[in-house]
Amino acid sequence: MTVPTDEKLTFRDLGFSEPVLKAIDDVGYQHPTPIQAAAIPPILMTRDLVGIAQTGTGKTASFTLPMIEMLAGGRVRARMPRSLVLAPTRELAMQVAENFEEYGKYHRLNYAVLVGGISMEPQIQKLEKGVDVLIATPGRLLDLFGRGNVLLADIKILVIDEADRMLDMGFIPDIEKIISYLPPMRQTLLFSATMPDAIRKLSKQFLSNPKEVSVALSAAPTETVNHVLVETSERDKKKNLIKILVDENVSNAFVFCNRKRDIDGLKRSLEQKGIKGTAALHGDMDQHSRSKVLEAFKSGEIKILVCSDVAGRGLDVADVSHVFNYNVPHHAEDYVHRIGRTGRAGKTGRAFTFVTKDDTKYVQNIEKLIKMKIPLHTVDGKSADSKNSGGKTDSTADNVRNIKDAKPKDSPKSAPKPEPKPAAKKTAPKKSPAPKKAENRPEKKPAPGPAQRGNVKGFGDEVPDFFRSK
Ligand code: AMP
Repeated sequence: MTVPTDEKLTFRDLGFSEPVLKAIDDVGYQHPTPIQAAAIPPILMTRDLVGIAQTGTGKTASFTLPMIEMLAGGRVRARMPRSLVLAPTRELAMQVAENFEEYGKYHRLNYAVLVGGISMEPQIQKLEKGVDVLIATPGRLLDLFGRGNVLLADIKILVIDEADRMLDMGFIPDIEKIISYLPPMRQTLLFSATMPDAIRKLSKQFLSNPKEVSVALSAAPTETVNHVLVETSERDKKKNLIKILVDENVSNAFVFCNRKRDIDGLKRSLEQKGIKGTAALHGDMDQHSRSKVLEAFKSGEIKILVCSDVAGRGLDVADVSHVFNYNVPHHAEDYVHRIGRTGRAGKTGRAFTFVTKDDTKYVQNIEKLIKMKIPLHTVDGKSADSKNSGGKTDSTADNVRNIKDAKPKDSPKSAPKPEPKPAAKKTAPKKSPAPKKAENRPEKKPAPGPAQRGNVKGFGDEVPDFFRSK
């Protein structure tokens, strides 16, 4: 693992006991990450805590490890869990549970995951046996609470994970309801990548004198992810995505769509064009299929995952080389979460976002949030943005250098080469109407002449056929 860690500290310095240290050692972590170094000591001192950190920073272990330490030795009672972790999505809940299993392997703690979309019966049986840690999405927890299958009066530690996502998904009223069933004497930990007013309010209302720790919001994605906006028309988007998938050294990628209904169709189109190892993941799929697809993606069997924002948060898949935003997300925070799927644990990654003339407002919001201007390029790697060249139009060489130089050093070798390669057009295709230039973007210069073209490859080592045909 190469997630940035604090090399001056060890987990022993943080005060963990031998069984936890042994589990950490088995996983191979040598030093705590900054969020772990900052959050674990106050958590172990039973303080309430607000942690501003995104996934990819070691955030999950910053609460699971001290929880295991603090819960060790206690006794469980039927239907009365001792701690509760609330997560916004089923996938995230399961991932948190995996962390508990891994780090708690030398403890005798019982875990239960309560998520919707799967049968309640096994969940009820686990609750009956008694659990130390309950990991739940709000809806299913309230369902089972309403039926009397779970009592919340013995909760000593509450974790609200990905609080800003909870807000986006409309879960805040559910969270407030759940908290009203908890004993007031408890420790509460709230984690969020961003701190919108509603979350700040929630923390004021339900946390008592919390210690606030934060790791820089946008530092992680902007430092390890190379961002590119790709200018496109709606009509050419699919073709442009395929072109980049072919030309880039894509080992595995998320392709995010804003609408669930577009996902299956796009996946089929990619398959028809010979892009192998493609699958879809969205909220309309049953839980079993979702878990199967995720496993296959994690194992490398599936290379290209066309998905909705359900996959955007918290999923920890190591070594994702690329993220594609087939649609610009309408909430700027979703951009941060989507691209956070790549460039994880110290690796570098690339994030391509397809922008049409209608997306200007959303792009501006994203750039404001991440505090950087994202270079705008055409699909063949040319700058479409004068802002990178001191106000002059189209300093192509500079901008191409931006793209090429920023290529991940540890870029994986195996690209999901399509079979066959999308047909190369020998003759110039019928010209599609030029996309209207995005607001505030200067007019592009005409395409460079053939002599220049050798310099404007930006998406691969070969000049692609697609480019020649332009
Ligand atoms: P998270 O932010 O919880 O999604 O964690 C991101 C990744 O960092 C996961 O793959 C963890 O296994 C890994 N990780 C967590 N803590 C450490 C650590 N102290 N050293 C190295 N890797 C870590």
